[in-house]
Amino acid sequence: METYLVTGAAGFIGSYVARALNERRVRVVGLDNINGYYPRALKRNRISKLAEVGVHVVEADLNDSLTLRGILDTCRVTTIVHLAAQAGVRYAVKNPGSYVHSNVAGFVSLLEEVVKTSPIPRVIFASSSSVYGLNTKLPFSESDVTDSPASLYAATKKANELLARTYNHIHGVALTALRFFTVYGPHGRPDMAYYSFANNIRAGQLVNIFRSADGSELARDFTYIDDIVRGIIAACDTSEASGKKADGSNPPFRVYNLGNTHPVTVSDFVSKLEHALGMVAKRNYLPMPKTGDVPYTHANISAAERDLSYKPRVDLDTGLQYFAEWYLGYYDSGANSEDFKYIPL
Ligand code: NAD
Repeated sequence: METYLVTGAAGFIGSYVARALNERRVRVVGLDNINGYYPRALKRNRISKLAEVGVHVVEADLNDSLTLRGILDTCRVTTIVHLAAQAGVRYAVKNPGSYVHSNVAGFVSLLEEVVKTSPIPRVIFASSSSVYGLNTKLPFSESDVTDSPASLYAATKKANELLARTYNHIHGVALTALRFFTVYGPHGRPDMAYYSFANNIRAGQLVNIFRSADGSELARDFTYIDDIVRGIIAACDTSEASGKKADGSNPPFRVYNLGNTHPVTVSDFVSKLEHALGMVAKRNYLPMPKTGDVPYTHANISAAERDLSYKPRVDLDTGLQYFAEWYLGYYDSGANSEDFKYIPL
């Protein structure tokens, strides 16, 4: 039986992926250190929901190689969906060590245990649209040069891709990098703009919208969680096995954009969110701070369409309706009382 290890299973995307894989009747085990970047209660809630359907999440850090070894051997893991990371762009300004610990050292720690496993599992891992940095060629394609990360977070995601190439080259690990574009949806991350905008709109507080000196605003290619999950699972299904082939060649190292292909400015996004929530935002336009945000993101998904049959199905208006329905219910139940405390800069 196929066994999947999902790292970051208590996180937003990881909890969805673990559940979706479990529904396909493969064995799934999770790993997460339940870091305190946003309320642990939210992560514990996701873990207990996974436990209800029989998915166990081991509470451990990626750098705990003994625990990793135990999971890989005991569960005979065949595929790893690696989503654990210190996420967020702005948090890196004051907390660089967290990114180095989880995204760089943690990734190497995982890959070191992967190559000691027989047979070597295949690895599908989260990269990010942030690797495109200050790229001005739109839409972003996988073949674009990605040598100008605008944040420490982006630099660690690019480092992941470079490290993956190395482990693919030396050890023949089948590795697939998935560059996600701003993922949103129910049970999402409270540190992300769409969620804090919803909190501020509901509380009647100002919604800060940043503008550059020339009046332009950030634009993002928002992608609905279910589309991302489908893309991840398709990447697992189409990945080759790890290990050198009979002719001595390695399985390919693959990189795919998973986006929605319809970027919107933050102002337009706020209008759509107002509509979904049935509430009006108090907009507050401010000059753009230097916190590592890139001006825009826009995915070219033709490679994922071709190889993964990936096609985003949920447009932003519909996805925000789903988010708003969940958000308002969650808020009204009092579950959101432990609001996200971190205030970006
Ligand atoms: P998340 O923060 O909700 O999930 C990440 C999980 O990893 C958390 O539960 C955290 O506790 C865990 N974790 C962090 N460091 C760890 C460590 N050292 N050991 C074990 N567990 C650790 O974030 P998410 O939005 O679900 O993102 C999942 C992945 O996708 C991340 O790699 C993120 O960088 C990437 N990504 C997300 C987005 C997005 O818009 N959500 C966009 C691009 C890329």
